[in-house]
Amino acid sequence: MKPYLLYEYGNASQPYSFARTVKKALKNARETIALCINANADEIYFTSGGTESDNWAIKGVAIGDSLKRGIITSEFEHHAVLNSCKALERLEYPVEYLKPNKDGFVEPQSLKEVIDNPALVSIMYANNEIGTIQPIKELCEITHEHNALFHTDAVQAIGHVPIDVKLLNVDMLSASGHKFNAPKGIGFLYVKENVNLYPYIDGGSQERYLRAGTENVASIVGMATALKKNCDCVETNSKRLLKLENDLLSELKRANIDFIRNGNGNRLSGSVSLSFKGYQGEMLLHRLDLMGICVSTGSACDSQNTQISHVLKSINLDPEYAKGTIRVSFGVKSNPDDGFSIAKALVKILSKS
Ligand code: PLP
Repeated sequence: MKPYLLYEYGNASQPYSFARTVKKALKNARETIALCINANADEIYFTSGGTESDNWAIKGVAIGDSLKRGIITSEFEHHAVLNSCKALERLEYPVEYLKPNKDGFVEPQSLKEVIDNPALVSIMYANNEIGTIQPIKELCEITHEHNALFHTDAVQAIGHVPIDVKLLNVDMLSASGHKFNAPKGIGFLYVKENVNLYPYIDGGSQERYLRAGTENVASIVGMATALKKNCDCVETNSKRLLKLENDLLSELKRANIDFIRNGNGNRLSGSVSLSFKGYQGEMLLHRLDLMGICVSTGSACDSQNTQISHVLKSINLDPEYAKGTIRVSFGVKSNPDDGFSIAKALVKILSKS
């Protein structure tokens, strides 16, 4: 990223020769990202992150849908999707919310039961609190049988599980750089060719007139490099993270701690939502923080809201457990003994209070 911050700071949209290297860097980054998800380079649109990508996919479809066919999504989407849908509802655009099952999955049958003639179905690839990986291919197939578009918020999944947009056949996919070790404030939206999406940010001709604004070249280059790095070692990383979470869980069980691990089935490795009956997640967060361990309660993107998260409500978790929920996210910088250390810290707190 450094050269694009220090020396190669030409504006990629200008025709002067100073922009040549920068233009090339943008082209390479687009191609690298496309290769990582088996897309074509001109199906990748750079955005400011996951929130913008989600807003664009959802509102972009609705703006172009004069018949108000509506959107189907799920109750446990990220607020970038949920609040985009709420904004549309305020404009009297119809939205329907599917309830996931208690294990944390949107069942294809539940979509079959309600789908009639929507413009869009939007279901996240992996849930950001409980890590459950949704049956995207099947949900997408059902959607296409009803002539609707399918969008997936893959912010938590991309770079952590192999994703092939052609195999999945999704029409749009949102991604955010900071979830795969790239800088914050950069992301992209994959839009399948022939999908006629309305622009969300109007202005200049950048991103083929669909997303205006001078490109954040350094961050885009960083995002492409980080995504390739992650995709090249998805399996090794995933095994490493699984070992860390198993250490954490086995140590808690060994100490006879009463807890629930939320989400049951196909999950992202390294993302662990734990609920402890009769405790407050906030208290656990602060006690762990004093011991040098940073975890989140419910959703990290919603730390101002200390009530039970909408995700835990949607899977009907017993409120006595739900209030005492923390989320541990292991990542590339986690040490091999972190699973055990976090478990030991938790046992210490839980056996004292
Ligand atoms: N979607 C999901 C599933 C997320 O987890 C997040 C952030 O945590 C977002 C969207 C928002 O992404 P960003 O922070 O890049 O705007």
